[in-house]
Amino acid sequence: MKRVLVGGAGGFIGGHLVKRLKAEGFWVRGADIKQHEYSPSKADEFLVGDLCDPQIARAALENVEDVYPLAADMGGAGYIFTGEHDAAVMRNSATINLNILEFGRQAGVKRFFYSSSACIYPEYNQLDPDNPKCDEQSAYPAAPDSEYGWEKLFSERLYLAYMRNYGLKVRIARFHNIFGPEGTWDGGREKVPAAICRKVSQTPEGGEIDIWGDGKQTRSFLYIDECLEGVRRLMESAFAGPVNIGSEEMVTINQLADMVIDIAQKKLSLKHISGPLGVRGRNSDNRLIREKLGWSPSKPLREGMRKMYDWVSEQVTIARAQGQVEEVAGVGAKR
Ligand code: NAD
Repeated sequence: MKRVLVGGAGGFIGGHLVKRLKAEGFWVRGADIKQHEYSPSKADEFLVGDLCDPQIARAALENVEDVYPLAADMGGAGYIFTGEHDAAVMRNSATINLNILEFGRQAGVKRFFYSSSACIYPEYNQLDPDNPKCDEQSAYPAAPDSEYGWEKLFSERLYLAYMRNYGLKVRIARFHNIFGPEGTWDGGREKVPAAICRKVSQTPEGGEIDIWGDGKQTRSFLYIDECLEGVRRLMESAFAGPVNIGSEEMVTINQLADMVIDIAQKKLSLKHISGPLGVRGRNSDNRLIREKLGWSPSKPLREGMRKMYDWVSEQVTIARAQGQVEEVAGVGAKR
């Protein structure tokens, strides 16, 4: 049985990846600074510890063939675009990747997956919300709009340098807004799909939900199961990447909010307020992944958003029963 490590197994994508790898028959070690918040891990072994600590990283990498180091200091726009966490984001995530590569190489790990991000793409190509340019070649000259994006770009280069100099097998994906159940939905690190679902679920009929900016900024969102299919195909292929793993179904944030309101069958309106925004437009460009791996998303955004809304609503109900959610008339309230 092949032995693999999933770093960040206590997080959203890592938690789902552990389940997928177990279903495929792998022996899985999970490692994270915390246990998974929403469901007990299916990993054969779960190491709770800080992967910035060389001793922990060494222990995590012992006796595994493949590594999926998904651990990173990250969050949605409210976490990575305010500038308040820049130093921690860069230091923590870069240290994790430096440790994983060096100690993994020493331990004889054969293959490394790396979860880069659409946030590496230059801001100058994403000013027009209707025509963002995000093909893999357009990453340079580099000009990401966040330190999170700069760290991802540095780490992409680090993985590629280890591949060239030490002959390691490396597979790099650039994820575009992955969403689904069992991810952060409140507390400040949540991303747009979770935040909108929470606000729609919490706001009484006839109320308003807050949207940062004018809501005309565009994005695409990919459901977690589709993402994992792309990850597994990439890992088993002979193609190193970097390659986009995302959806090409681009929507404005207003359209996404209206979709969730419709799914919830509520009558709510949108209230535009100031907030951290990120680039004006972004969409995945899947030409390369279609060509190399024959992969593209199989289901429409609405189908994933329905599952997402049902799960977030359930969390809101549980939190309310525990007295953790405050209701504010007309505005989606946070714990
Ligand atoms: P997440 O925050 O849910 O998971 C990350 C996990 O890493 C968390 O459980 C956290 O506790 C853990 N972690 C952080 N610092 C650690 C440390 N020092 N030691 C051990 N564990 C640590 O995020 P996610 O959405 O599951 O993202 C997984 C990966 O995919 C990250 O590398 C992220 O940058 C990348 N990514 C995600 C998206 C997305 O839309 N979710 C988009 C682009 C890239």
